[in-house]
Amino acid sequence: MTVTDFAKYPSTDLEIALLGEPVLRQLAQPVTNFEEVELTEFCQKLHQKMLSLGGVGIAAPQVFCSRQIMLLAPRPNARYPNAPEWEPMFMFNPKVINKAEETEKDWEGCLSIPGIRARVPRPIWVEVSYQNETGETNTIRLEQFLARVFLHEFDHLIGLSYLDNVDNNRDIVSESYFKSEIIK
Ligand SMILES: [Zn+2]
Repeated sequence: MTVTDFAKYPSTDLEIALLGEPVLRQLAQPVTNFEEVELTEFCQKLHQKMLSLGGVGIAAPQVFCSRQIMLLAPRPNARYPNAPEWEPMFMFNPKVINKAEETEKDWEGCLSIPGIRARVPRPIWVEVSYQNETGETNTIRLEQFLARVFLHEFDHLIGLSYLDNVDNNRDIVSESYFKSEIIK
């Protein structure tokens, strides 16, 4: 990818890649140039798109951009009433440094897989490194819901979907069943 790759994104409305799109099965490429105006504009668009769809996180491959960019932005909303409030945080080129052996199952959904929810086992905490908007490298330890959102979005950067981590098909339900019977 070149410097101009992000240029095409701000000019149009971002479109969500749905499960089956090859871009969701690719390894995303790292971001190397943090000076690009287009990168900043792309990130703003990505954030808007996530908000408009009621997400608590999103990854660039979900809008057909195969780059290692994710946004972690939990806050309570209609789709995730129990989400914690968290200052939106872009993470570039993230890596998992360490993670808990202990896992916990909880519900996830995905903007790329509308209409269903599933209980997914995830480590209860992760320690990650990432670059911020200026390219500076930071590390952070994320727990519970935040660790879950991070790992969900991280999967999108390595060609996985959350359904790949479901350990029993009985843990998958329709979104309408989830709303009427589970979350209530
Ligand atoms: Zn997703």
